[in-house]
Amino acid sequence: MSDPCRQICDLIHSEKSFLVLAHYRPDGDAVGSQLALAILLKNLGKNVEAWNDDPVPRKFRFLPHSNLIQLPPAEPKDFDVVIAVDVSTWQRTGTAGQRVGLKKHFINIDHHVSNEKFGDILWIDPSAAASGQVVFELIKRGGFKLTPEIATCLFAAVSTDTGSFTFANTNAGALRVAAELVETGVNVGEVTRHVYESYPRARLRLVQMALADLKFAEHNRIAYYWVTNEMYETSGAKREDTEGLIDYARSIDGVVVAALFEETSEPGKVRISLRSKHPQVDVNSIARHFGGGGHREAAGARMTGTPQEVERRALDAIATALRHANL
Ligand code: 5GP
Ligand code: MN
Repeated sequence: MSDPCRQICDLIHSEKSFLVLAHYRPDGDAVGSQLALAILLKNLGKNVEAWNDDPVPRKFRFLPHSNLIQLPPAEPKDFDVVIAVDVSTWQRTGTAGQRVGLKKHFINIDHHVSNEKFGDILWIDPSAAASGQVVFELIKRGGFKLTPEIATCLFAAVSTDTGSFTFANTNAGALRVAAELVETGVNVGEVTRHVYESYPRARLRLVQMALADLKFAEHNRIAYYWVTNEMYETSGAKREDTEGLIDYARSIDGVVVAALFEETSEPGKVRISLRSKHPQVDVNSIARHFGGGGHREAAGARMTGTPQEVERRALDAIATALRHANL
């Protein structure tokens, strides 16, 4: 099989209309990678659209051309090329994916180890810290122009998926990419101010409420807490404000697995986020057990059941994983 990078570059040169999709409830890697690809294609004179079921979270709206990302249309639309980026399963494109009509080519660019390998051309690199890192490689190897605008989007992607270059996935490659992006003209201080220092006060109220009920299990090796619909209402926070909340539980000494449960607007559906601090504990396999996925150290799923049931099942699965790792 020929090199996916080469195949993707050929299609970028030869085709005319492109759709770029990322997963719903987009994080920094999803927004940054989706925008970087959309700007690249626009700069090449292509017809390009970018859809997402959810609006760009406030903290990422400063990114160049963030208004390129639109809600999907009501009726299906045809494209020469559809690119999914940072999407581990097609279902996570939501309604946007359902609005895709005819497509000649279907490209899947990602870094999730749990990627379900949908599409005709697959470039999935689990060793990349962020999908933005794969997009960076595409631009470099394809000889495309890396502009400061694209670099800013990619920097936001890599910075957020590595926890500001602190998580275990922060390898030399990620740091090299970051260095080159900064050389291209990223204003790091400005990115930091928007992404990490512009939270609405409502988010802090939500954090206070959630942390007030922080719980521990398995001799303090598991730290977990809930974000309930009532907390959203009382605090005035939005769903997008939960990004990064789990890091408070992860930051505690002795905690091996952090879990955040979030009630959703759908009754009986709970979102769970998982983080592992130990190389022998793979939260991706726990999330997969519940129909989700992600990475070894960071994963999530949507579970069905009452809060009590969901919590019990998740804590049991985590406890089993700890036992298997002799922890
Ligand atoms: P987070 O906990 O920040 O929402 O997600 C952590 C990682 O797990 C991300 O890479 C995200 O894409 C993945 N993830 C989160 N929720 C789900 C889910 O419901 N299904 C799948 N397949 N992956 C998820
Ligand atoms: Mn990612």
